[in-house]
Amino acid sequence: MFIDGQWLKCDNTFDVLNPATGEVLGQVADGDEHHATQAIEAAHRAFESWSRTTAHHRSSILYRAWQLMLERKGELAALMTAEQGKPLKAAANEVQYAADFLLWFAEEAKRAYGETIPSARPDQRFIVQHQAVGVVAAITPWNYPVSMLTRKLAPALAAGCTVILKPAEATPLCAIAVFKLLEEAGLPAGVVNLVTTSTPAPVGKVFCESPLVRKLTFTGSTAVGKMLSRDAAMQLKRVSMELGGHAPFIVFEDADPVHAAKGASLVKFLNTGQACICPNRIFVHKNVMPDFLQTLTSRIEKMRVGNGVTEGVAIGPLVDEKAVLKIDRQVNDARDKGAEVLCGGQRLTQGEFGDGYFYAPTVLARVDDSMLIYREETFGPIAPVISFDDDDDVIAMANDTHYGLAAYVYTKDLSRAFRAVEQLRFGIIGVNDINPTSAAAPFGGMKESGLGREGAREGLMEYMETKLAGYSV
Ligand code: NAD
Repeated sequence: MFIDGQWLKCDNTFDVLNPATGEVLGQVADGDEHHATQAIEAAHRAFESWSRTTAHHRSSILYRAWQLMLERKGELAALMTAEQGKPLKAAANEVQYAADFLLWFAEEAKRAYGETIPSARPDQRFIVQHQAVGVVAAITPWNYPVSMLTRKLAPALAAGCTVILKPAEATPLCAIAVFKLLEEAGLPAGVVNLVTTSTPAPVGKVFCESPLVRKLTFTGSTAVGKMLSRDAAMQLKRVSMELGGHAPFIVFEDADPVHAAKGASLVKFLNTGQACICPNRIFVHKNVMPDFLQTLTSRIEKMRVGNGVTEGVAIGPLVDEKAVLKIDRQVNDARDKGAEVLCGGQRLTQGEFGDGYFYAPTVLARVDDSMLIYREETFGPIAPVISFDDDDDVIAMANDTHYGLAAYVYTKDLSRAFRAVEQLRFGIIGVNDINPTSAAAPFGGMKESGLGREGAREGLMEYMETKLAGYSV
């Protein structure tokens, strides 16, 4: 753990495993509520001086961190593949994405502009300025173990906040590597603090209950996000919530089904299907269904599954046993209720798969709303395909979920694209595009997919208060 500028050892430790091999990669400190309190107090002490540094100074440290991250891209990617499982190339892409946030907020730090507002009174002036919220507590998931950290840390630091971060228990080694880099970039003691733990609930409780913490930022499941929001509400702490998704992927009648299927095969199987923006319900117009399914299935059958360090592997392991059991239950339920398994459909256990958490990439056709997979977030390599024949019906089906993070639309008709984007209740929409994300663009969900936005101009304001001064002159 990294608290008040010191790396602390702990009597209690927990093992970190490689999900592809079951091998123990290392032991990390198993922190508890006392460490969380210590870290919050360190962040509180550091806040006064850090928040008064100039935006230019904070920017220069973030630039340095960006440079260090790019220099260490290969090293960080190798660690991520071992700890989280995604193939090396995807891991390197994630490190690049993580570095993008450091660069973006190094730049945005200097643009936290205020405003002057004309008053109705001749003797009055209104001036609006933005100031750091205060101490920020951050909780991050395992699926993007480097970029989900910088997406929170970079804007918080740019704004002048100090931070305590608790990473997911499956990926603390990536978090440690990020904090080493931030230390080297020159952050003063107490400005960033890391508490690793195998039991997140008590640490989360301290984050919610400490009066010194003014903002909670969380990325993870909707269930945990709701619970933390409720606890944080007792002190009306500000919250940002990046939660689960259930993305629709709509292929309209006029779309090129081959192009759409290629897109679906890439974004559905991103990170072995363990991304919050992965399509979870693929709606295909009945007239283009045969071509779509043929392309999708033939591409997926060719995807190589294995340890992410092996050249050519596209699909790595799932994170743990629970994840395998959840998707296996969804696939069996769909099969029992009449879905057709076009490829995959089972766990992989033979040979090199024996010690890891592997599942065959799967295409399910004839999925309908009676199946679990139609409603539940699928965090795995399963592509459920549903037929439709009317535009209004498919928009209604797409919106029929309590989630609202990402959605995808394939069409060549501009009016249809505009209508779909306006009617879909989702925060991020790709139109003939499978990667509508960037450090420069606002990321976040509607409904039970979250509150607030990360990245972009909005990302900085999540960590700032708006202060109005009305002057009598
Ligand atoms: P999770 O909610 O189980 O865990 C996320 C984090 O919360 C981890 O650090 C975990 O240790 C911590 N946590 C768990 N229980 C807690 C508790 N009681 N108190 C405090 N902290 C607690 O989610 P997960 O399975 O690790 O991540 C997958 C989920 O994250 C999916 O639902 C996915 O859609 C979502 N996600 C969302 C985004 C986004 O930007 N919207 C990005 C990535 C992942």
